[in-house]
Amino acid sequence: KRMFEGLSEKLSGIFDALTRRGSLSEEDVNVALREVRRALLEADVALDVVRSFVDKVRSRAVGANVIKSVTPGQMVVKIVNDVLIETLGAEAEPINLDAAPPVAIMVIGLQGAGKTTTTAKIAKRLSERMKRKVLMASLDVKRPAAQEQLAVLGRQIGVETLPVIAGQTPVQIAVRAEQAARLQGFDVVLLDTAGRTHIDEALMQEMAEIKAASKPHEILLVADSLTGQDAVNLAKSFDGRVGITGIVLTRVDGDGRGGAALSMRAVTGKPIKLLGAGEKMDALEDFHPSRIANRILG
Ligand code: GDP
Repeated sequence: KRMFEGLSEKLSGIFDALTRRGSLSEEDVNVALREVRRALLEADVALDVVRSFVDKVRSRAVGANVIKSVTPGQMVVKIVNDVLIETLGAEAEPINLDAAPPVAIMVIGLQGAGKTTTTAKIAKRLSERMKRKVLMASLDVKRPAAQEQLAVLGRQIGVETLPVIAGQTPVQIAVRAEQAARLQGFDVVLLDTAGRTHIDEALMQEMAEIKAASKPHEILLVADSLTGQDAVNLAKSFDGRVGITGIVLTRVDGDGRGGAALSMRAVTGKPIKLLGAGEKMDALEDFHPSRIANRILG
């Protein structure tokens, strides 16, 4: 099952029943909203987000005097669609390159979330679509294979990676990447950082030091959508400690319920910028709130 499929099926069941009726009582609307509430909770949406979602829909439905309208069911669906888009962040927020080059983009997250893959996907997109000259650097000195993994992807997509110098710290590599980019006229430097299996103080400290040294224009948290509310809590922690500018949700090609995607913006205040939808280098999608709402409401 693709992400949102379960939620989408439940909502269409609720709204089909609603739009089929010519008139609605206030109680009909309340019953439908209780079902919507349950469907969102079953999709693993954060409780606070569900509450505020349902409250907003209810108060707008009352304000718009839905039950007296000619097509009450359709009006409820329209209101749900609007509130869904707002919850997802309203507007698409692409990667921001609006700074003097070389623009540094730092990619952070837990081990296995998809950081290295996402770094290469972004590099490919910026170089092919946006015609930017991109340099990638792996700051992961803990996992011996990490730097080679990024170099392999770089060769595959035709993007340069910073040559490895053994024994350097992540901060030293970040500084060297910036210098190399400046000297060689790169537009963008992508910094792929090390992860850990769990959030810990050492990881946060390392990220804060790299941030201080490289002054990135974007700090993108890569989070696995399949981990649901754990991904949301992770984003909150990273944002509180390091500060992030946006989120990339990976594995949306998996069978996630969609709770992370639906809660992320409302809980963290930070936009989802991109979606990782597969292992291939082209499997990167822009996050458009209205398109996601369409996918959910069908
Ligand atoms: P890192 O430890 O955070 O750098 O994670 P990697 O980039 O090495 O990714 C871990 C695994 O997840 C790899 O096998 C990737 O191919 C896979 N992966 C990354 N992003 C996605 C995605 O969006 N969808 C799927 N299905 N797999 C992904």
